[in-house]
Amino acid sequence: MKFPVLFTAIALFAVACGKPAEPAATNAEPVAAPAVPGAGVLNVYSARHYDSDKVMYDAFEAETGIHVRFRESGAPELIETMKAEGDQSPADIIIASDAGTLFRFQDAGFTQPIRSETLEAAIPPHFREPDGNWFGLAKRARIIVYDPTRLKPEDVAHYQDLADGKLQGEICMRSSSNIYNLSLMGEFIGRWGADKAAEWARNVVANFARPPQGGDTTQIESIAAGECSAALINHYYWVRMTTGSDADKAKTAKTALSFPEQDGVGTHINVTAASVAAHAPNKDNAVRFIEWLVTPEGQKMLTEETKEFPMIAGVPLPEGLEALPEFKQSEFALEQLGVHQSEAQEIYDRAGWN
Ligand code: FE
Repeated sequence: MKFPVLFTAIALFAVACGKPAEPAATNAEPVAAPAVPGAGVLNVYSARHYDSDKVMYDAFEAETGIHVRFRESGAPELIETMKAEGDQSPADIIIASDAGTLFRFQDAGFTQPIRSETLEAAIPPHFREPDGNWFGLAKRARIIVYDPTRLKPEDVAHYQDLADGKLQGEICMRSSSNIYNLSLMGEFIGRWGADKAAEWARNVVANFARPPQGGDTTQIESIAAGECSAALINHYYWVRMTTGSDADKAKTAKTALSFPEQDGVGTHINVTAASVAAHAPNKDNAVRFIEWLVTPEGQKMLTEETKEFPMIAGVPLPEGLEALPEFKQSEFALEQLGVHQSEAQEIYDRAGWN
């Protein structure tokens, strides 16, 4: 997203962050002063764009005295920025959605491994990078949305059902270059092998009602409009519409959800995750912030607006999630998604899934 105002703030931020340890007196940018002298600062690079994240940073700052400065941009832009900054990067923390995205930061050398008993106890191993390069903090399920007037639940109980010839002309999808589709394919490659995964992609393409277009919300709208009868979405897009405008509620009312693979390995789960940046000037504060994000308070603020599932048990669910059923979740090691990422794109490309 490109907001001119934000970019102005970013420019100031970049200047202000040149020497993060310097006292405010030498710095023209007053917001650079730590909230509590001695508590220091924390520079967040986030690929998320939610008003609730600002509330979250404020809450952490109020509780710890650590002054939070943040920069929000798309993941590709953040990667370009960090590339240009090199070891002078002021980034302490990277926050992004999808383990496949975190892989890109790690692969570029922008993360560092950390050990934390708190995080290792709170987060199951398959939701974090084994060496501690990133930690999953909130969960999202990639599910099937369908038209219940045209399909029965058993028609879409498995991801494989989307590739069945009986759904010819019935499938809507977004682009294959989208990280959610790449990561889903990563799990398929890991579980089924590349040949079967490629066959799935070819058969799904043969079932397309139209060329891939739009985002996940577009797929829900296409089904509500009768353009197709099944599509893949991340659960929170549907939940946000059910808690949104009357028009959005009317659209979701025409659709139903399937959480695939309930009789098998469970539904594909991905995460919003955080890394400590490779050259973090305030590494201790960075670790402290990630640990705070797995407290009940941090979890609530992280998921309330996004409608993701909290990572830890016992946190109240965001409004709207109570409408979803309990479901079996895949325990595929998300660190493998990055390993398969380029192969996933090749498979989609060969299948003609643009
Ligand atoms: Fe999303």
